[in-house]
Amino acid sequence: MRIPSPRARRTLGLGLAALLAPALVTGCGSADDLHRATTSMEGVRTTAAAVPPREGAAATDTSASPSAGIPSQRTAPPSGGPAPRPAGATAPAAPTATATPTASPTPTAGPSTPPQQSRVIRTTAGGSRTVALTFDDGPGPATRPILDLLAQYHAHATFCLVGDEVRRDPGAVRRILAEGHRLCDHTVDHPQPLHALPHDRQVHEIADAEDAIVRAGGPGTRVAWFRAPGGDFTAENEQIAADHGMASLGWSVDPRDWARPGTPAIVADVERHLRPGGVVLMHDGGGDRSQTVAALRDLLPWLTAQGYTFAFPAEH
Ligand SMILES: [Zn+2]
Repeated sequence: MRIPSPRARRTLGLGLAALLAPALVTGCGSADDLHRATTSMEGVRTTAAAVPPREGAAATDTSASPSAGIPSQRTAPPSGGPAPRPAGATAPAAPTATATPTASPTPTAGPSTPPQQSRVIRTTAGGSRTVALTFDDGPGPATRPILDLLAQYHAHATFCLVGDEVRRDPGAVRRILAEGHRLCDHTVDHPQPLHALPHDRQVHEIADAEDAIVRAGGPGTRVAWFRAPGGDFTAENEQIAADHGMASLGWSVDPRDWARPGTPAIVADVERHLRPGGVVLMHDGGGDRSQTVAALRDLLPWLTAQGYTFAFPAEH
């Protein structure tokens, strides 16, 4: 049995999921966000099918599909969307994943190894007045425009890539690397919720995506981080990632660009919630990301004017 394709990703509704089953809460990538939002805030939601290819899957889904409404709701967990976990909910620029003892190994997803504390990273390596920009669900049509903008501002970012997309556009991976950016594993086809898959399937999602990325990038390509679709981090998938040398990467600011709230809203959200050392979640894949590109066009000069320098996320 195969995982429902990204597009078909479905989000399990977890109404109170955030509170009851942290493991389920999702958060990241578009789809991610989507889900997360969906999930964490309200109850179930079935994003079914959907939209174009993958990502959007989730993400797009939302926007494109019935989910339209979601965006608003997701106000609660401040953009910071420390989402995944109940924890950081409050403080947008919250420090690392400190909290969230992912311990919540759901009954179903029994960790393959002894339970451990969640170490989801949500800060930059250097702290101080730095920011780590991260882009999920690509490569996609927006990847190159985003790379052009980053180059214009001498900014570096981290790209959380989806294995299937990498296979479609390996050249994008090479350009990302050639321009000094770094890579993150965002699974093969963005299943959600990841933790609901059997252990071996989760290993496949994480390990094969890394393989695809390394194959595209060439010998020596390093994938330092893993980001669970929807921010669905669990002790189990964090351990799988760690076994492959990757740290689990969350975020501290989530402008929910996947929901296409409008460029001004994306910009305002980042400006309002970013704190020094923060990790910003945006998307270069998963659907129409023109608002994200436009927002970046405003945010890059703003960040520079605010004295921020561009850094990478911490690795432990
Ligand atoms: Zn994603």
